[in-house]
Amino acid sequence: MAAIVRDLAGSAHPLTIVCLLAVLTGAAYPVCAQQNSTIIDVGDSRLYVVIENSKFRLSQRDIIDWIRRSADVVANYYARFPTKQAYIGVRAAAGAGVKRGRALRDGPTVNVTMGVESTANDLQTDWILIHELIHLAFPRVPDRHHWIEEGLAVYVESIARANAGTLTPEEVWRGFVLGMPHGLPRADDRGLDFTPTWGRTYWGGALFCLLADIDIRKASGGKMTLRDALRGIVDAGFDMTDQVDSLSTVLTVADAATGTLTLTALYDRMKDSPEAPDLSALWDQLGIDTQYQKIQFNERAPLAALRAAITAGDHPRAAERHYKDFTY
Ligand SMILES: [Zn+2]
Repeated sequence: MAAIVRDLAGSAHPLTIVCLLAVLTGAAYPVCAQQNSTIIDVGDSRLYVVIENSKFRLSQRDIIDWIRRSADVVANYYARFPTKQAYIGVRAAAGAGVKRGRALRDGPTVNVTMGVESTANDLQTDWILIHELIHLAFPRVPDRHHWIEEGLAVYVESIARANAGTLTPEEVWRGFVLGMPHGLPRADDRGLDFTPTWGRTYWGGALFCLLADIDIRKASGGKMTLRDALRGIVDAGFDMTDQVDSLSTVLTVADAATGTLTLTALYDRMKDSPEAPDLSALWDQLGIDTQYQKIQFNERAPLAALRAAITAGDHPRAAERHYKDFTY
């Protein structure tokens, strides 16, 4: 899905800083921001971008292009941009690279802070904006379920970039092999809903998503994926501007989209008990050789085709073959 930039705002509009502050605080005064922003249309959705007037080494057009590309990656994954409109605020900071980001329900709004010395390569390799945009595609849930919000953003960010061809399968799996151990339960863990540590929130949530993606593919003979489940949530009208009382409500919608009970079953197992999958066995089953600095793939592993399908995206239904059972 290609985004179209409709208009480049002047670089020194006197109201821009007011609008930027409005966006950064989540107030996102629509009239102000809409009148002083650059518009990016992504399918039927409209993004209002406000960039802090500052001495960015990159041109405004470069920054707008990066936001457009990031929005396209997310729209490609969800088959549409997840909200009808969104405000994007870009704030300047010292140094180089995208420093941090935040998604806010008002607007909804995504704010990113970016170093004024940032280069084109810094934006090419950025994952933070995509992570924040993915937050727009899931309703807000009670605090105890915060792990699903962050886990989805961590997992989908990598997969969506791979699906769009901007991250290699080796880079995806290397990130997961390094990161997923942080998501394993430690002593005194009481399950995902009751252990709000950094590791369990970000990587425990991402591990839940990886296991769910594998389970959905196995349960459907490779015809359905976590992506289909998440598209089902967006298709049902849920986004970050919604608040639900229970995660189960959303998972039921997502399961219906794949015709499985995978997410509900996995959640029932992991919500209040410290389930600890054997990651070494999982990487073996997927054909991911982790003993070298560089990830190598074993195409003869039982789930090699499933692993390849995860990063391949919509195109090849490479995983439509019989999966051998395995446990983790
Ligand atoms: Zn996040």
